[in-house]
Amino acid sequence: MRKKLVAGNWKMHGSLAENAALLAALKPALSGIEAVVCVPFPYLAQAQAELAGSSIAWGAQNVSEQAKGAFTGEVSASMLLDFGCTYVIVGHSERRSLYGESDALVASKYVAAQAAGLTPILCVGESLAERESGVTEAVVARQLDAVINAAGVASLAKAVVAYEPVWAIGTGKTASPEQAQAVHAFIRGKIAALDAGVADQLVIQYGGSVKAANAAELMVQPDIDGGLIGGASLVADEFIAICRAAA
Ligand code: PEP
Repeated sequence: MRKKLVAGNWKMHGSLAENAALLAALKPALSGIEAVVCVPFPYLAQAQAELAGSSIAWGAQNVSEQAKGAFTGEVSASMLLDFGCTYVIVGHSERRSLYGESDALVASKYVAAQAAGLTPILCVGESLAERESGVTEAVVARQLDAVINAAGVASLAKAVVAYEPVWAIGTGKTASPEQAQAVHAFIRGKIAALDAGVADQLVIQYGGSVKAANAAELMVQPDIDGGLIGGASLVADEFIAICRAAA
C-alpha cells in the first residue's frame, strides 16, 4: 500500500504571528498524520522550532540548482537542510511561468535537492491551452523525461510527483476526479514502463484548487496519493480536513 501525503504550499503568504496561529492549530489536529508544510524561506526557522517532534514535516518552495557561490538571492539545498527541511517543491508552475524555469533548470534543481538529501516534490502539469489542444500527456511526459534523463528513473524512489494542471491552480477550477485520475494513471504507467517497482511506490499528489469539500472524491482515486494544496493550506480547518480525507 502506498502512503498518502498532503503538502501545503504557503506561497508568498504568512507572517510570524499568522504562522504561529496556523501551526498551533495544525499540530494537535494532525497528530499522528504525516503532512508537510512548504513555507517561505524566512519562516523555515519558525517551522523548525514549532514543528520539530511533530508529525508535520516542513520544506521550502524553491531551491538553487547550485551548491554554493556567487549567486545573489539564491538559497542552496544544504541551507534548507540546516533548517531541518525534508522536502522542497521544484518546478511549481508559478516558477515555470513567472520566473522562466525551464525543464532543464527544474531537473537541475531536482538533482541538487536529492544530492543534499532532500525529497523533491516535482510539479508537472499542462496549461489550459495545452489541455484544449490535446497535448496534456505529451507535456507531462516531457516534464518527467527531463528529470528521468538527468537523474534516472530510480531517483523517483526518493521523490514525490505533484500533478498540477495549471488551469486549476488558484482558479477555483478543480480537475474532476476522473480527469485527475486519468493523468495520474498516465504518469504511473509511463514510469512503470521503465521500472514497475518505482512506479508502484511513487507518491503522486494532485494539486489545483483542492479544498475540504472536494478532497475526499479526489483522494479515493486509485492513483491519487495525496495533494499539494495552495490556498486551502493557509486555513487551518481546511488543511486539517484535507489531510484527514487523505489519511
Ligand atoms: C499550488 O499552489 O500548488 C496549488 C495547488 O494552489 P491552489 O490549491 O490554491 O490551487
